[in-house]
Amino acid sequence: MTTENKKYQLKGLTVSELREYFETIGESKFRGEQLFNWMYNHLSTDFLEMQNLPKALREKLNEGCSLKTLDLITVQDSVLSGTKKYLFRTEDEKNIESVVIPEKDRSTLCISTQVGCPLDCKFCATGLMGYKRNLTVGEIVDQYFMAAKENGKKSITNIVYMGMGEPLLNFNNTLKSLQIFTTELNTAISRNRITVSTSGIPNKIKELADSEIRVKLALSLHSCFENIRTLIMPINKKYSLAENIEAIKYYVKKTKTRITFEYTMLQGINDREEDVKALAKLCKQLPAKINVIPFNSIAHMAPDGISGELAPTSRNKIYDFVEKLRNNNITVMIRETQGDDIAGACGQLAVKY
Ligand code: SF4
Repeated sequence: MTTENKKYQLKGLTVSELREYFETIGESKFRGEQLFNWMYNHLSTDFLEMQNLPKALREKLNEGCSLKTLDLITVQDSVLSGTKKYLFRTEDEKNIESVVIPEKDRSTLCISTQVGCPLDCKFCATGLMGYKRNLTVGEIVDQYFMAAKENGKKSITNIVYMGMGEPLLNFNNTLKSLQIFTTELNTAISRNRITVSTSGIPNKIKELADSEIRVKLALSLHSCFENIRTLIMPINKKYSLAENIEAIKYYVKKTKTRITFEYTMLQGINDREEDVKALAKLCKQLPAKINVIPFNSIAHMAPDGISGELAPTSRNKIYDFVEKLRNNNITVMIRETQGDDIAGACGQLAVKY
């Protein structure tokens, strides 16, 4: 690991950065496209197998550069749902998790952007870990490339930035990782199958809208009422829901996409009659759909304060809530809990240090 650390890290460079890199070492720029293809389409981590590069260049790259950012430590399989949870270790010995969730017609990889998370959402196990650091671009994209290699390349059809961390607080690295996934040179995954999920950082939502990247956006909404949202998502004190809705309207207009609202069902907190009315009012203002998420309690982790008191809304109440929303012509999906037997369900990603 020490020798590897000293090597120049190429994983995580975009195609234009790779072109520049080859130019600076006196090679043709088009080697950048070739390496991009090997790294991100053939999932290669071995310079020596890159047969269309001259032998001397392969050896030079092998000597001085690295394509490895993470070690795969364990893969846990959920017998109940087929969900797989990956535990990766970074070079500085930090642990992160990603989850592959199989569904009828697709398989979604949920990736992390930070080690831990600074935002302390009260329903989320990752928030309890605190924040360690941002992930590098290489560490973000490698979660996909390593899981794809392990599962077979075609096994992952969708990516959602919804693992550990707030992607828009690691904005530059998140953006660059999206550039790598969505460049026309990357044949692996279609851009309309990539979703960035945020707790709501309005200026960064607008910046993402202004970039050339076109991906889907999801907002962790969880309540339409500022006071309740602040109670369960302290970040709402800094960036109000009103500011976020304004930023999201801008995103929707600029990217011509539909927004997804994530809505974790919390008993007595956001599953009341007035919540249905407020959601219906909000969804009239912009093209949106709602993902209703059954809550996975984190009380077993013995958190302080409200986190330990939050309880899931009952199944019948969820169905009733969803039906009322649908009666208001709102598109609603229930995101069935998957992988809770391996703590891989939504809001449960937390690595014990
Ligand atoms: S829900 Fe997302 S933003 Fe909130 S604490 Fe968990 S990881 Fe961070």
